Amino acid sequence: MQKDHLVKSITKDGKFRAYAIDATGVVAEAQQRQDTWSASSAALGRTLVGSLLLSASVLKGKETMTVKINGGGPIGAMIVDADANGNVKGYIQKPHVHLPLNDHHKIDVGKAVGVNGFMQVMKSMGGDEPYTSNVPLASGEIGDDFTYYLAQSEQIPSAVGVSVFVNEDNTIKVAGGYLIQTLPDATDEDISKLEKRLKEVPMVSELLLSEQTPKDILNLIFGEDNLDYLTDTPVKFTCTCSKKGFAKALSKIDPKEIKKIIDEDHKAELVCHFCGARYNYNEDELKSILTVSEKRDELEQAQNHGKDKHDQDNKE
Ligand SMILES: [Zn+2]
Repeated sequence: MQKDHLVKSITKDGKFRAYAIDATGVVAEAQQRQDTWSASSAALGRTLVGSLLLSASVLKGKETMTVKINGGGPIGAMIVDADANGNVKGYIQKPHVHLPLNDHHKIDVGKAVGVNGFMQVMKSMGGDEPYTSNVPLASGEIGDDFTYYLAQSEQIPSAVGVSVFVNEDNTIKVAGGYLIQTLPDATDEDISKLEKRLKEVPMVSELLLSEQTPKDILNLIFGEDNLDYLTDTPVKFTCTCSKKGFAKALSKIDPKEIKKIIDEDHKAELVCHFCGARYNYNEDELKSILTVSEKRDELEQAQNHGKDKHDQDNKE
């Protein structure tokens, strides 16, 4: 059953922009593809949900973003790619992490992620240079970290809630979240009223477990009559990897390395970190990759030589 979707709304008084998402299918697929255990499932799931919400709120058209979180905890680094149209994929370095529950009887995501590190967001806006921003992790609980990123890096005061319910067998029961942005018309009083309300409403995973939709969640927070709904779009786990794409990546390594693979193994298998797809290359295919790599290498050497000479000329 594919029911994943994200709704965008704005309050009728124009004080808040509000997004909510059910990403159960996306997170379930990532859990299967990455074979994650409980703590890894929750951490990656929350990051997938947060990245979908963030890209819905700050990206436009064909823009894409890569979110990288590494807090030095047992799960290592996580990398999530998302675009403005609800496509997302994710990778976790250490998928097999279980941890004892925390004091609130919840999966200890903060401990799994760690707090000694950064959240990096790289936005590709279609130009040559992607825009990259790093902020220190706030708590490693992910929701707080997205909130902190939005405040620090985008100067958008926000509240982000992300939650994932992991079954006993590590599979995903539900996953979703909300992102609320404060608009300039909101007063301090409006903001503290909202903060109070957010503390009252149950966690998103609890709401999803009781069959509430993203719209129901926002209605619960703001009141049904106070919102104008703008869009309702599907979200999905999408990997655009291909045999051709991996061949291109392989041609970027040192031709000597490719030659070594040809001489020793006569074949190669590459595995996509995101979706687990496997691509096999026979000896002939590797030889044509080698030709591309050698040409590239020659060109680079010639350019470097030119640059060295230029540097030398400058020194003289
Ligand atoms: Zn892939």
